[in-house]
Amino acid sequence: MPPDMDAPETAPRSAPLSPCQSCGACCATYRVNFCCDELDDRGGSVPAGLAEQVTSVMACMRGTGAAPVRCVVLRGEIGRAVSCAIYEFRPSPCREFGPLAAVGQGDDACNDARRRHGLPLLGGAVAPCR
Ligand code: SF4
Ligand code: SF4
Repeated sequence: MPPDMDAPETAPRSAPLSPCQSCGACCATYRVNFCCDELDDRGGSVPAGLAEQVTSVMACMRGTGAAPVRCVVLRGEIGRAVSCAIYEFRPSPCREFGPLAAVGQGDDACNDARRRHGLPLLGGAVAPCR
């Protein structure tokens, strides 16, 4: 999922950009469901005002519950430059989605989202550490 491009830099300027920074497809494809316990009014960190109730125990990010899907806190243009406005407080599915996308390795869900938005698929194997 896209990073917070407003966050202080933690890497040298020469560090390569994550493919997620020019993508955002997953944030505009899937319903982002998570447990209500992640909401800040239930002791979690996801701003409750940015979510909507799905069931008595599940919530989803606003904008992802019905087509056309686009999370309300996704900033920028999909396929060009994007960021998540609540990156530090995003729900668990966003933290867990596409775990290797940032290093250029897509999985099925990541690449399905990219395909739906007309973006090239991310490649496969990452070279092992030596
Ligand atoms: S679809 Fe994949 S590459 Fe695009 S933002 Fe999501 S995880 Fe990153
Ligand atoms: S909260 Fe952020 S990372 Fe999660 S779907 Fe919305 S824009 Fe994407």
